[in-house]
Amino acid sequence: MVRTFGLMNGIQFVVVGGGFAGVQAVRAIRRRCRHGHIHLIDQSGSATMVPALPDLLSGRVRRAAMARPLEEIFDESVTRSISVVRRVDMAAQTVETETETVHYDALVLAQGSTPTSPPEILREHRVYTVNTLTAATVLRDAVADKLRLGITPHVVVVGAGYTGLETAVALRHGTRTAAAPRVTVVDMASKILSMLSARRREQVSRYIADQGIDLRTGIGVSNADAGSITLTDGTRITAPMICWAAGMRAAPIELAGEVEATRDARIETNAFLQVPGHPAVFVAGDAAALRRDGSVVRRAVNFAHYSGRRAGANAAAFVSGKRLRAFTPVDLGWVIPLGSMSVGSIFGGIPVGGALGLRMHYIMSGFRHFGGGRAGEFYRTAAHLRRQPEPLDRFDEGAAARAEPGREEPRA
Ligand SMILES: Cc1cc2nc3c(=O)[nH]c(=O)nc-3n(C[C@H](O)[C@H](O)[C@H](O)COP(=O)(O)OP(=O)(O)OC[C@H]3O[C@@H](n4cnc5c(N)ncnc54)[C@H](O)[C@@H]3O)c2cc1C
Repeated sequence: MVRTFGLMNGIQFVVVGGGFAGVQAVRAIRRRCRHGHIHLIDQSGSATMVPALPDLLSGRVRRAAMARPLEEIFDESVTRSISVVRRVDMAAQTVETETETVHYDALVLAQGSTPTSPPEILREHRVYTVNTLTAATVLRDAVADKLRLGITPHVVVVGAGYTGLETAVALRHGTRTAAAPRVTVVDMASKILSMLSARRREQVSRYIADQGIDLRTGIGVSNADAGSITLTDGTRITAPMICWAAGMRAAPIELAGEVEATRDARIETNAFLQVPGHPAVFVAGDAAALRRDGSVVRRAVNFAHYSGRRAGANAAAFVSGKRLRAFTPVDLGWVIPLGSMSVGSIFGGIPVGGALGLRMHYIMSGFRHFGGGRAGEFYRTAAHLRRQPEPLDRFDEGAAARAEPGREEPRA
């Protein structure tokens, strides 16, 4: 049975994904269409401050600040389901979750992205990631468990993009005693962070080496058995904890109907964020192939935030026959926080780094938080960069900290 909501003949909006884009989409719909019924479906039930997840490993930001339950963000005028959306039938205008089929008059897809699958050779290993709160918590707990037992874990991060490097540095920053995990980072590419100048790349490489991180470029994993992996330079690493940071793709949802997508599964839209041929379906955030001057923009909070807002506003305009407005991504810049250093570029090319870049990163994380008191944690970190309220090796408080926030996300 197809479930419908609200008043008879009421307009039904469905938003999939309650992250940066989805939360903005819901708010924009509500602003423009006070009587429409909005159904927000998210597999975790919380909006997560994804850029802060490496800080869960360093303990620089409290875990309780990493996510906010959707039921705190929206009142009961927004129906919220904690469910995994599996399929969208764009001809029938329905969204299918594990338990129900929901009709929509307008749909916003904002399901974000997920790591690419690790290669088959790693099938006998537990492979960790840091892209969700659950995943980052599992990695943190696994490292902390070893440290508690007096074992020095050897974490091998595969992928030296910003996620991999942030993770590596956060792991080394996570302890306040001598017992830090060993960390190796490998990447098949010949150099890290190709958008940086040679001088800044050298600065980052030196800093990473100073942190005791073994960074190897032009190197991948060539072989693995249950107890070890072998790198393409012949190095064998026994009992590795593998963290996969070698690529992302749009989170998978089967779309029945004609859709074009990029190689990393981001859905192509027109300028109004509609799926061509399916005007009731809008896509925003990491799930969308947002283009600027013809090129797909990087995955970033600001693009997700503003595209979500535009997709929601256009969905509301679409159902009431009003004019839709085009979305143009505006690039405000980026900062990569790496322990006590940072690199970044803002407002079209002004370089930032050091403590200033770090403070900007944490202030923006507070500013882009999903409301409520949790944003304050990021402003405190920006003000006191040396604070570390939940280090990896403060074992006694780990469990209490984990019990605090809202729900956990089931991974499909
Ligand atoms: C480790 C890391 C660090 C980052 N650091 C930065 C940074 O410093 N600055 C920056 O600008 N960007 C950063 N990014 C990128 C940024 O986090 C993303 O661009 C942003 O989160 C995208 O927002 P979104 O709303 O599209 O997706 P998300 O924020 O990922 O939200 C998607 C939501 O959809 C839900 N969902 C997924 N699939 C389904 C499904 N099938 N059914 C129901 N619900 C589903 C998820 O639970 C999630 O709540 C980082 C990313 C990572 C992984």
